[in-house]
Amino acid sequence: MNQTETEVKEAQVDAATGTSAQPNVKLTPKENRVINFFQDATPLDWEDWRWQMRNRIRTKEVLSKIVNLTPEEEQGVDSCKDKLTMSIPPYWASLMDPEDPACPIRLQTIPQVHEFQTAPEELADPCGEDKNMPVHGLVHRYPDRVLFLVNEMCAMYCRYCTRSRMVGDGNRTLRPSTYEAAYDYIRSNKKIRDVLISGGDPLTLGDNMLESIIKNIRSIPHVEFVRIGSRVPVTLPQRVTTDLVNILKRYGPIWMSLHFNHPKEVTKRVKFACDLLADNGIVMGSQTVLLKGVNDKPATMKKLFHELLKIRVRPYYIYQCDPILGSKHFRTSVATGINIIEKLRGHTTGYAVPTYVIDGPGGGGKIPVTPDYIQSYEDGVMTLRNYAGQTYKYIDPV
Ligand SMILES: *Cc1c(COP(=O)(O)O)cnc(C)c1O
Repeated sequence: MNQTETEVKEAQVDAATGTSAQPNVKLTPKENRVINFFQDATPLDWEDWRWQMRNRIRTKEVLSKIVNLTPEEEQGVDSCKDKLTMSIPPYWASLMDPEDPACPIRLQTIPQVHEFQTAPEELADPCGEDKNMPVHGLVHRYPDRVLFLVNEMCAMYCRYCTRSRMVGDGNRTLRPSTYEAAYDYIRSNKKIRDVLISGGDPLTLGDNMLESIIKNIRSIPHVEFVRIGSRVPVTLPQRVTTDLVNILKRYGPIWMSLHFNHPKEVTKRVKFACDLLADNGIVMGSQTVLLKGVNDKPATMKKLFHELLKIRVRPYYIYQCDPILGSKHFRTSVATGINIIEKLRGHTTGYAVPTYVIDGPGGGGKIPVTPDYIQSYEDGVMTLRNYAGQTYKYIDPV
């Protein structure tokens, strides 16, 4: 590529995304392997989040060039068309092992036939969100905070998605015209001090739309801060541009709940995005979903949480996988989750120990599930055990 072409490419990145956050784009060997399947694409295209969105992998034809699909995966891709669609940004595709069907990134991303088998306890809306919506898109479960679902689009559709009933590029149930009703509801409920913006994924919206939402919410006097729930910094870190961060900075304090499930997701490129967010005052936590074959081993979780602390992301929750339709192959026993916490608490940095929760089916909200450290309680004497199994008596000043 000659100098002029480079300049043209740079100008395109500027127009599409604002200043590209990453100056000297250098792709990894895995990224180079994937970009080669896209004709004429350059590293600057790769760095442009809109290029990544436009070129998401959505068909078996393209996917089968990038990974060696198993028959179960092929059938899964064929069958998912009228359900939760498949969508894979090229960046995210570069994290998939082309040969290993047990690759944790593949398991979360490529539909499998098991998705189309439902168990009796499974529900389309397991957390009972739809019935707790006083206004379209606004889930009001706890008195002092609301969950505002601003869109249905994600960069990548996680196969175990708790909102698979409503997400997907084709669904258009939430429109900007419905936002006003949500703002009115928040404005008229003075108890709401915390607004969690989620979706879909709010970071798939353009900068202007996102800014308008945050600005409208922050203009309500009793709202103390906003939170953004997003997996985009993980599946499409190129979206975290300097422009985006400059917008977010203006409306602080902003907390961000990211969604990491496996240490493979914590790449150099993701670190770059998280550094930009953290350096600009955005506080980050991670919500992790406990998934069979992906992260159900204590050592995998520990490694993930150590990697997250290194990029200034605090592990916040581990979720028991919600019983959405066709999720049986992903769900582990609750004992698996409790054992993970048992193997973390006391054994490593306290900041690396999130709270393990089950979202109470039907609308109970997040209920913590913990190992039992109280062995007995008699006449004000508590017998406690520590992480190493030693027991201690504590006199309770009742
Ligand atoms: C998870 C959730 C929240 C936020 O809960 P925190 O424990 O404060 O993070 C709020 N509303 C709904 C409906 C939720 O599902």
